[in-house]
Amino acid sequence: MFFAPMTSPNDKAAPAAANFIKNIVEADLAAGKHAQRRWAGRPGPAADHAQAPLDPAKIRTRFPPEPNGYLHFGHAKSILLNFGLAQQYGGRCHLRFDDTNPEKEEQEYVDSIIDAVKWLGCSWEGGGETNLYYASNYFDWMAAFAEYLIQAGHAYVDSQSAEEMRVNRGTLTEAGKDSPYRNRSAEENMDLFKRMQQGEFPDGTHILRAKIDMAAPNINLRDPAIYRIRHATHHNTGDKWRVYPMYTFAHPIEDALENITHSICTLEFEDQRPFYDWLLERLAEGGLLQRPLPQQIEFSRLNLTYVVLSKRKLIQLVEEKHVEGWDDPRLPTLVGARRRGYTPEGFRLFAERIGVSKNDSLIDYALFEEAQREILNESAERRIAVLDPLKLIIDNYPEGQEEECFAPNHPLHPELGHRAVPFGRELWIEGEDFMEEPAKGYRRLFPGNMARLRYGYVVKCTGCDKDESGKVIAVHCEYLPETKSGTPGADSVKVKGNLHWVSAAHAYAAEIRLYDRLFKVAAPGAGDRDFLDDINPDSKVAITAQLEPALKEAKPEDRFQFERHGYFVADRVDSQPGAPVFNRTVTLKDSWGKAEK
Ligand code: ATP
Ligand code: MG
Repeated sequence: MFFAPMTSPNDKAAPAAANFIKNIVEADLAAGKHAQRRWAGRPGPAADHAQAPLDPAKIRTRFPPEPNGYLHFGHAKSILLNFGLAQQYGGRCHLRFDDTNPEKEEQEYVDSIIDAVKWLGCSWEGGGETNLYYASNYFDWMAAFAEYLIQAGHAYVDSQSAEEMRVNRGTLTEAGKDSPYRNRSAEENMDLFKRMQQGEFPDGTHILRAKIDMAAPNINLRDPAIYRIRHATHHNTGDKWRVYPMYTFAHPIEDALENITHSICTLEFEDQRPFYDWLLERLAEGGLLQRPLPQQIEFSRLNLTYVVLSKRKLIQLVEEKHVEGWDDPRLPTLVGARRRGYTPEGFRLFAERIGVSKNDSLIDYALFEEAQREILNESAERRIAVLDPLKLIIDNYPEGQEEECFAPNHPLHPELGHRAVPFGRELWIEGEDFMEEPAKGYRRLFPGNMARLRYGYVVKCTGCDKDESGKVIAVHCEYLPETKSGTPGADSVKVKGNLHWVSAAHAYAAEIRLYDRLFKVAAPGAGDRDFLDDINPDSKVAITAQLEPALKEAKPEDRFQFERHGYFVADRVDSQPGAPVFNRTVTLKDSWGKAEK
C-alpha cells in the first residue's frame, strides 16, 4: 500500500501564466504615472511628504492582513503577488497589519503572520526602509480626515436606529431614503462627533456617515458608515478611542498614507472601488492626501480542490479537533504547509503557473503538488527508508561481517557525492518486495528468482519463514559476491527487479506520518453535505519504519526523497536531537487522478 512506482517525477515545465496586473504596472511605469510622488520615509498625509525627496520606490504594494487568524494558501497567492511585483519593478511592498477593529486582534496572529511571510521568502525591508506598519497607528489621521469631511459637508452624524438605517438603505432595485438627520449643520455634526469621541454615547446610538447619494445604484455609495462608537479596549491604543473607523473608510486611507500605488485585493471588493475612489478624491481635494492616489485592482481569489480555505471552516476543524492544531500538516494553513515539508519555492512556482486574473476558478490541488514535487525532485537529497519492514536473511553472508555500499545523494547532482550505507547479513526490505506465489509479471523476490539489492549485490531468493498463522516473517536468500554495484562484476548477472533495503543491525527505527489529503472529495461540503462528512479517514497514518542510519542526524525541516516512496521532512515540532520523526510531504506520483481512489 505504500508504493509508488520507481519512475522519476514528471518534470514537464509548464510556462508561467498571464498576470494582468503586471500589464497595468508596466503601463503606469511607461507613463511615469507615479514618478513625481514624494516620500517622507514614513507614512503620512500630503503635508508630510510635500517637502520630501522623490520616492525611491518605483511602485508600492502592500499585504494587509487582519491579525485575526492564521494565513492560508490563498494568502500566499496574495503575498507572492504583492511582494513579487514590488521586487520585479523596483518597488517596495509593505506588510501592514490591519488592526483597526478593536475586538479581534491578537499578538499570536501577528507573530505567525510575520513568520509565514518571511518563510515565503518575502521581505518588507530593503533600500534602507522597514515597511512594517500597524493601521491603528493612523487613528489620529483618520479621525482628523473624518472631521475634515464633516467641515466640507461630506459627512454627517446619523442617529437612526440600525433597523431604520437598514430599511432606508433601499434595495438593489429601489433607491434608499434620506435620513432625517442628513441635513444637520457642520457645527452640529462636529459637536456630535467630538462627543462620540469623548465616550458620551453608548455603542450604536450614533454613527458617522459619508454624504454621497441615497439613490446611487451601487448600494455602497448610499451614505456608507465611516465611524462607529465602540467602547472597547484596543491592543495598541488602549482606551484612547471610543470611536473606530469602518474598514471601508480605513483601508483606502491606509493605502494613501503609505504611498501605495497599486492596492491589490480580491474580487469581492470590486463594488467598494467607487467608494474607495470617492473618499480619496475628497481628501486629496482638501489637500490632505498626495496625488496620484492609489489605484485599487481586484483579482480572483485562490480556490483549490480538496481543501477548505474559509476561516470559519478552518476554525471548526481545529476547535472540534478533526486535526491536531493550526499547524497540522494536513491543513492548508502556511504553518501547516511548513510542517508538512512543502517548500516556499514550490509555492512560488505554483503561483506563477496559476497566474492572476479576474476569472473565478477552481484550481486542481494536483497542480500544487506537482509544483512541490518539481522543486523537491531538484533539491531533496535521496535517502533509503523501508516503510513496511520484512526481514531478509542472506544465508551465505558471514555472520558478524559488514561492509559499506555507496549510494548517490542526488542522481541529478553528482556533485553532491555519495554516502556510505552499511550492509550486513540481515536486512530490512519492503513487505511488498517478496511474494511466495508471484503474481504475473512480478520481478522482485520469490523463491528461485534473482533481484538486485540496490547499491549492493544480486541475491537469489531461496525461501521464507512463516509464523503459526502462515504470515511470512523472514525471507531467505543467497548473494552473488562478484555482483557488487560499482565493481566490474556488477553487470555479470542481469536481473529485472531492484529493491531498496537497510541493514537491520544499523537501521534507525523511526515514527513516520504518512499524510494524505484531508478531504476525500474535490469539493468538500458541496451540495447540501456537511463538509466534515467528506473528511478522509486515512489522511494520517503513523507507522514505524526502518531508516538508513544517516537519517538519525536529520535536523528539523531537512527534506529528503525516500527512494520509491516520495518526499519526507523531519518534523519541526516533534523531532528530538538524534531522533527525528518524519512527515510525508507528497508521494512521488499523483494517485488521486486515478479512478480507484
Ligand atoms: P477575513 O474573512 O477575516 O477578512 P481574509 O481571509 O480576507 O479573512 P485578510 O486578513 O483580510 O483575511 O486577508 C489579507 C489579504 O489576503 C487580503 O488582501 C485578501 O484579499 C487576501 N486573501 C485572502 N484570501 C485569499 C484567497 N483565497 N486568495 C487570494 N487572496 C486572498
Ligand atoms: Mg478580509
